[in-house]
Amino acid sequence: MKGFDYTKGQIWLGDGIVPAESAALSVMSAAVLYGLSVYTVFPVNKTPSGMAAFRLADHYKRLEESAHIMGIDAFPGSWTYEKFEVAVKKLIEANKVQDDVLVRATVHVVETVPGTRSRGLRTEVSIFVYPAVPILPQNGARLKTSVWRRVPDHSVPARAKVNGAYVNSVLGKQDAIDSGYDDCVFLDDGGHVCELSAANIFLIKRGKLITPNTTSDILEGINRRTIIEMAKAEGIEVIERTVDLTELYVADEAFACGTSAFVAPIVEVDARQIGSGQTGSITRQIAQSHHQLLHGVSDNDQYLTFVAN
Ligand code: PMP
Repeated sequence: MKGFDYTKGQIWLGDGIVPAESAALSVMSAAVLYGLSVYTVFPVNKTPSGMAAFRLADHYKRLEESAHIMGIDAFPGSWTYEKFEVAVKKLIEANKVQDDVLVRATVHVVETVPGTRSRGLRTEVSIFVYPAVPILPQNGARLKTSVWRRVPDHSVPARAKVNGAYVNSVLGKQDAIDSGYDDCVFLDDGGHVCELSAANIFLIKRGKLITPNTTSDILEGINRRTIIEMAKAEGIEVIERTVDLTELYVADEAFACGTSAFVAPIVEVDARQIGSGQTGSITRQIAQSHHQLLHGVSDNDQYLTFVAN
């Protein structure tokens, strides 16, 4: 979908499809005033058997869980996974999607000036497609430890994908860009590694995959989970635990993963070369298996939902 102007496309809003230009929220809504929306982004890719969404049910489940954590109880309401799948299919059809895209689905709290609360407030769902352009270089990302710490679970839970919480990511990412890096590494209050601004992180040491565990103030990434499963199936040991920053400095290889990051090799952190300074062999293998899984060229198609021909 290169050259595709998604701002001129069709968007799902509320109960149906509308032109992007007319899909609007009130400036008085809690979504706008407090960032009170939850969202997910998933890929729809071209496969030999048609256009396929990846782990769609898991994305819907995480959307429900984010709303649940936030006390946004009007969602799911009349929504079900089945309705969500139909909406995605209609959207893909309406935009005549023929190439890899990303799809962003958001549950907005649309009620106007309700104050800082979440229960019993009306929600609306928006879903739109946009080009699948990676947010990190795919041939070697350079990262900087963020001057901003990751929002802790006891304050703004990273486990919930809440729009307003992404100001934390904006601060970290902009700080990294301002310093000439591609993205940040967020640390928690104790100085342990969490994740990037919008991707999870893995390092490889002596052939083993190591990644911050799910109580490390991270978003529980769907690609993170996929890569853990994939690596185990390929006989690579995976360790989920607290990770020190200096372990990253002396890793043999490191990579970031996420729907919008894909699998991005990390070659430098805080002016220190990681491993050989090139994409490592295990990272390359994982990136390739991940790409094949998402593009329907592996034996495993259990995670694909076909949404168009
Ligand atoms: N962490 C953060 C903060 C993110 O925004 C994302 C992107 N959704 C991820 C990790 C990766 O999650 P996923 O693999 O589900 O895209």
